[in-house]
Amino acid sequence: MNSAVSDILNMGIRPNKALGQNFLVDDAAVQAIVKRVTESRLPVLEIGAGLGAITVPIAQSGVRLAAVELDERLLEALLSRAELADVRLIHGDILKCDLGEIASCLGGSIAVCGNLPYYITSPICKRLILSGLDIPEMTLMMQAEAAERFTAEPGDDSYVPLTVLYRYMYDISTLLKLSAESYYPRPEVSSTVLFMRRRRDSLPEGLARVTTAAFAMRRKTLYNNLAAAGIPRQRAADAIAAAGLPASVRAERLTVEQFAALAELLKDEG
Ligand code: SAM
Repeated sequence: MNSAVSDILNMGIRPNKALGQNFLVDDAAVQAIVKRVTESRLPVLEIGAGLGAITVPIAQSGVRLAAVELDERLLEALLSRAELADVRLIHGDILKCDLGEIASCLGGSIAVCGNLPYYITSPICKRLILSGLDIPEMTLMMQAEAAERFTAEPGDDSYVPLTVLYRYMYDISTLLKLSAESYYPRPEVSSTVLFMRRRRDSLPEGLARVTTAAFAMRRKTLYNNLAAAGIPRQRAADAIAAAGLPASVRAERLTVEQFAALAELLKDEG
């Protein structure tokens, strides 16, 4: 048995399914993730430290690290580990904690990593991309199905507002694909580790608002969705034409660059 699994059992800790606790117990995967995360030497924010599968080797690499964990039992186990003496271990909810304060304690510019709790993958990713923080890199592990949203192309079922925001800001590649055997307990699904490298400094003003409105009702046209969001009909029609798009187009057909152009045309529509 992998030593990480026996550590978990020896501590008498029963993984909490509701908190998405599927611990990484695949040494080769840990090595590949830690190599990727630490290569830039940026300070790191880890989301959901668990029992430290990634936390400990990142700390041992000498990179500055802060890690957020919601489960107090796990935090206590982490606090008892000598290897983590210099790590800022934060007991809290990644959706509520002050990310700006954590980033500034780490020096401002940060890399983010995490084997994300599956039940809040999208809210976490949304919070990160809209945070305005200086995040040049992210290495995120998530369910394979969730990862498809970040690599989707226009027309794919998994092409959603989050796809547009992330693809605008980051070059995204698949670092690893992992099966259920890489975790304890074994989940019912497989996972993907995505590596994201920032390619632009900031999101265009209004891009999040326009994409959310555009996808509100997937079967409706872009025009109808923009109008339903309160954009005057003529204004919506003019912007769609000015972006070189057909009047009957649906949001799922627009490229990331076309969304950016539309956001620019509609940026004063608060
Ligand atoms: N990083 C560890 C690993 O790879 O073995 C654990 C990963 S496990 C998939 C997700 C972790 O996120 C769990 O430890 C869980 O307790 C924690 N978690 C769940 N919800 C959270 C939240 N809202 N904020 C912070 N951590 C959370």
